[in-house]
Amino acid sequence: MFDPNIIKKDFPILNRTVRNGKPLVYLDSAATSQKPQAVIDSIVEYYTQHNANVHRGIHALGDESTRMFYAARNTIAKFFSADTNELILMRNTTEAINAVVYMWAEDHVSVGDVILTTEMEHHSNLVPWQVFAKRKGCSIEYVRVTESGELDMADLKKKLRKGVKLVAMSHVSNTLGVMNPVAEISKLAHVVGTLVLVDGAQSAPHLPIDFHKLGCDFFAFSGHKMVGPMGIGGLLVRAEVFKHMHPFLYGGGMINEVSLDTTTFADVPDAYIAGTPDVASTVGLAAACNYLSKLGMEQVVKHDAELVSYALNQLKKISQLHIVGPMDARKRCGSVAFIYDGVHAHDVAQILDSEGIAVRSGHHCTMPLHAKFKWGATTRASFNVYTTKEDIDVLIRGIQKVKEVFGK
Ligand code: PLP
Repeated sequence: MFDPNIIKKDFPILNRTVRNGKPLVYLDSAATSQKPQAVIDSIVEYYTQHNANVHRGIHALGDESTRMFYAARNTIAKFFSADTNELILMRNTTEAINAVVYMWAEDHVSVGDVILTTEMEHHSNLVPWQVFAKRKGCSIEYVRVTESGELDMADLKKKLRKGVKLVAMSHVSNTLGVMNPVAEISKLAHVVGTLVLVDGAQSAPHLPIDFHKLGCDFFAFSGHKMVGPMGIGGLLVRAEVFKHMHPFLYGGGMINEVSLDTTTFADVPDAYIAGTPDVASTVGLAAACNYLSKLGMEQVVKHDAELVSYALNQLKKISQLHIVGPMDARKRCGSVAFIYDGVHAHDVAQILDSEGIAVRSGHHCTMPLHAKFKWGATTRASFNVYTTKEDIDVLIRGIQKVKEVFGK
């Protein structure tokens, strides 16, 4: 049975107290999730028992390390129902998106072409395209976000046409919490010959992802948001698209043979691992995938839906709050952000922090979205498998404290 109170015990940091002995209530999982003991142990075990460089040297540790690295890569790919040769390990979502610029877009997008993205994107899926478009002389267009905080599908259909080379969009918005219909959009895009990049930073931790069923061409994710370590994530690439890409890092580990005149390269995906990989973090991410798989992603998503629904219902009772994003919990995932009327988000977060509650305040790397709606800054509470309804009750009591302090 999925019980977040039992799951909490797997995460040692959640035992901590902060701010003069207040029990930690961690509601900042969209920024980064906490790590279960199983993930921490896997990294400690790797370094205490197996550490050696991969591929190199015929000795016991090198052999163990290489086998662990490949096994971990298989586990991670399987978690996304993808093939191992469709996964390129990356440091995080940001690196994965930038890698698409260098590995694919450089050769396939040119003057006059269009990159289509949305007004709700995290800067990580916006700035790389803006900079690329300026450099290449192509244009960038944005699909509108509606007043209720959803992707305007009519606007998307209008803007999606021949000449649009890529749709780059988030699966789940880290500010609006809204889920975007990426499977439907991938189908529409492929009809006009457009490729689709999905920023899965906020969906991978909560939704069961089947890369092939989603139908997109690229799917970027960060391990640290899905109870895995920092410094490891990945880019899933449709096998057919791999044929039209090239690595953007060259060097040791990714070659077959090198002469002074020329080089032949390893097969995909090894051709995309230049230099020493972060083996310990890869092993740690595989442990995170195993942990989530054991909980069952169907249970994880159900738990998240209950939390989002509960949080929305409790927060909307507070008249001073304006919740951003759709009010229908079924359209959301992972987080709820709000504005406290007349009190700056940083002040809200500071008062909550004094009660031991960790939330995020600011623009959450979505400045254009905040500017569009003239929000200034928002406060975001975000969840993961260890979040309980009681955590949300503590948040609600913390918000009452804001009322007391500011008298409004
Ligand atoms: N995309 C979205 C939707 C995010 O929420 C984030 C991080 O919060 C990112 C991309 C960037 O993730 P990372 O910092 O792990 O690269």
